Amino acid sequence: DGVVIKVDSFALQHRLGYTAKAPRWAVAYKFKAEQALTRLLSVDFQVGRTGAITPVANLEPVLLAGTVVKRASLHNAEQIALLDIRLGDHVYVEKGGEIIPKITGVDLSSRPMQSEPFRFITHCPCCGTELVKYEGEARHYCPNQSHCPPQIVGRMVHFISRKAMNIDGLGDETVQSLYDAGLISDVADLYRLRREDLVDLPRLGDKSADNILRSIDASRDVPFQRVLFAIGIRFVGETTAKNLALHFRSMDALMNATPEELAAADEVGDKIALSIVDYFRDEANRKIVARLRESGLRFEIGEKQLLSNALDGLKFVISGTFSEHSRDQLKELIESHGGRNQSGVSANTDYLLAGDRIGPAKLNKARKLGVRIIGEEDFVRMLSGDMPDAAVAPGDKENPPGPEPPEESVYKMAASDQNNVKQGTLF
Ligand SMILES: [Zn+2]
Repeated sequence: DGVVIKVDSFALQHRLGYTAKAPRWAVAYKFKAEQALTRLLSVDFQVGRTGAITPVANLEPVLLAGTVVKRASLHNAEQIALLDIRLGDHVYVEKGGEIIPKITGVDLSSRPMQSEPFRFITHCPCCGTELVKYEGEARHYCPNQSHCPPQIVGRMVHFISRKAMNIDGLGDETVQSLYDAGLISDVADLYRLRREDLVDLPRLGDKSADNILRSIDASRDVPFQRVLFAIGIRFVGETTAKNLALHFRSMDALMNATPEELAAADEVGDKIALSIVDYFRDEANRKIVARLRESGLRFEIGEKQLLSNALDGLKFVISGTFSEHSRDQLKELIESHGGRNQSGVSANTDYLLAGDRIGPAKLNKARKLGVRIIGEEDFVRMLSGDMPDAAVAPGDKENPPGPEPPEESVYKMAASDQNNVKQGTLF
């Protein structure tokens, strides 16, 4: 869907180098997306698991880039007002990177005389609760988290999803049927399902019922970080859940943390911290969490099991910021491969793992003490037992280590990655 243009010389690529995200010696161009003009018939409002309201346009069917388009995303109220999209308008539809096409403009010349500005709904289409807007967010939300049906079902669907509790066999439709039949009203009810509850459901035989029950049972072994992601705290995505799990190590420690303590975890800001506090302050949530605990889900990071001995006995200091891992993740990797973390560089430090924006004082101290300085890529190679070239055996610091010119590692990267330009990261 486009072209990538690269500088055709390793030497020049080397001189141009990289930004934090992409090489400076390659650029991608996308072809202009195809457009179609069609009429906006009506707008539906969908309620997501977080209560976010998404307006979806129903269009007069139109052929666009080889498929018939009937629905398009309208994003939010601000976007609708900005484009002044009105019912009955002829609108331009475009296929972007997403699966659902979006409306990008209005053909004002064909607007009906009697048209009126679009009025966004003020109340939830599913439960009737008045909608709210949160600071810094363009979308409207239904705040009735505990009793708005699509939010409850949406949370359950999220809970069973592959990256969360991975309860397979139990699809969206089955969750909806179980909810409609009154058999489950929150995620904790899943662990009380009996065989007879399931076999009576339409489209579900003995075999799939057993499958589901086995899958639910197996989810008790899902690691804590994924349990934390699964319970669906607002703004706590997969990565944040992992960072929180590594930092706090148990549900209890997390539940008892103050907003300040929460914000001390990697990549957790005030917004996420407050959302976590709000979640655990809610009586209904606390009950669900307590029942999940009773059901035997993992509520803490288990005793450390070493993944390898690749870093056996080596002492590391981590400083700066890194592109592939958070600092907590790097610390975890060091420990899970037999190494140890230190907070400051000293004579017995083996490696300084240096990221971007590392302080010059730390670098100088490491150089003076003969501590080897490595980057993230070197470190990742070490995990598979590949020690950096310039490395000196541990305990051999009386001999000054070889110099580590940063240019050299940049050059290596440019040479090995030159066929690996990622599209989409280059604009
Ligand atoms: Zn609602």
